[in-house]
Amino acid sequence: MRNLSSILWAMIFFFCIAGCGEQLVSQPQMDETEPSTTSTAEAVEAVSVPQSPVALTVLYTSDEHGWMEGQETGQGAANMLGLWREKEGYPDKTRFLVLSGGDSWTGPAISTWYQGESMAQVMKIMGYQASAVGNHEFDFGVESLKRQIAGSSFPYLAANLVYKESGNLADDLGIKSYTIVDLDGILVGVIGLSNSATAYTANPAIVGAFDFADYAETLRTTSAELKQKGAQVVVLTSHLCERDLNELVATAQSMNIAVMGGGHCHMGFSKTINGVAIIDSAPYLNSYAYVHLMYDPATMKTSVVDEGLQTNQGGNADPELQALVSEWATKTEKEGGVQIGYLKKELQRQSEEMQALIVETWLWGYPQADVALTNLGGMRDRLAAGKVTLAGVVSVMPFNNTIVEVHLTGTQLQKILEGKLTTPPALGGIRFSDGQWVLAKSGNPLNANDVYSVLVNDFMYAGGDRYSDLAKFDPDAYFTSIDWRQPVIDWIKAQESSENQPLDDAIRLLIEDSH
Ligand SMILES: [Zn+2]
Repeated sequence: MRNLSSILWAMIFFFCIAGCGEQLVSQPQMDETEPSTTSTAEAVEAVSVPQSPVALTVLYTSDEHGWMEGQETGQGAANMLGLWREKEGYPDKTRFLVLSGGDSWTGPAISTWYQGESMAQVMKIMGYQASAVGNHEFDFGVESLKRQIAGSSFPYLAANLVYKESGNLADDLGIKSYTIVDLDGILVGVIGLSNSATAYTANPAIVGAFDFADYAETLRTTSAELKQKGAQVVVLTSHLCERDLNELVATAQSMNIAVMGGGHCHMGFSKTINGVAIIDSAPYLNSYAYVHLMYDPATMKTSVVDEGLQTNQGGNADPELQALVSEWATKTEKEGGVQIGYLKKELQRQSEEMQALIVETWLWGYPQADVALTNLGGMRDRLAAGKVTLAGVVSVMPFNNTIVEVHLTGTQLQKILEGKLTTPPALGGIRFSDGQWVLAKSGNPLNANDVYSVLVNDFMYAGGDRYSDLAKFDPDAYFTSIDWRQPVIDWIKAQESSENQPLDDAIRLLIEDSH
């Protein structure tokens, strides 16, 4: 396995030569719809401040996860931009603030293969002015994050994300705690908050250096600072779930924060509690949330007129954005469209078949191991029927994980498996039968004192998804450096499947062999 040099490796290297090292310089073409952004309050003097009440509109999405093409036809980014024009009068009807709650990049190959560069370009044309830092923004490592932020047309915000050691903000990565957007003379302060669950939902090897400060306290101090700097309207964009936002209502109300946007939990919602609009879109650009606001310069108060959720359906695709998405799709198709197999029936995301295709092929490619475990959260897409391509596999497994071999006693392995009964991982090489764990290889039950070779992904080994026992039980695990997709790709290729002899039966056999 260690000597395998496959197309994928070659492609990853190719991408890195072609893309990873490249400075993501933002194109000089500034979209004319894009309102000016400033991070200082100096602009106050430059514009005349309106005297009568003014209308503001917040357009909000989160957890876009790279779905610029949409999960269904007609639900892509270009259609959403069309809807913003048609339904909201974007960008001229009112002053607009376009925000994201984060997790924008990791997803299908069209975004993941380029570490979000394509999605950043899409969001630039859409006119986003700020984004919270989601847990998935860390997926490609801090160096990539830094590069993406530097190349982005808008700031990434996380006021509560601080280094454990120094207590300082992650300024060195380009992450800010807030930004001030000048909307034709109205200064809107935007605060960002990251989800404290990032500590274990992102790879702890990457985010282990960070602490997450208290939400309410951070919101209070940051909004006070913003007001001092001249912000007239203050809003929050965050990667927080609805429950967290509910708990922040009193703080928001006391600081006259008009809007709180959330993310991470993939729940579209919109409501107003005590004058504070709380919103989040559905994930994957399936919908956007909006809030219509009135700001009265006389009283310096912001009030919510209404808010809601709009499904991304029926929008006429913006031609410029559609062209950009098509360009990326063609590029992805060309580079990742190499056919490696043929599937008659679609593999549903996280289905038994998909689980077997991953963990059983790890054991196929790494036969010295006894057991393979991988968390279901790593499977992000279905595998469509028809031509199976590299890009298809990357969409299913978008994270750049590697396989780690740990050595565990029967007792330790049992403890890990039984600690995960409510959210079990995909299991290869072991099954639960007649009240005991039985190994597929030997047909024998797990022996308490025997030591087994167990394959996991490096995200789990680093303690992600609360698998911290793995490193505790085996601190000297072997980092194989094998891309976790590699055995899947190699196995699919080895089947030499075709329309006449699709992969489906071979996948079925993988499941049977494990029983
Ligand atoms: Zn998230």
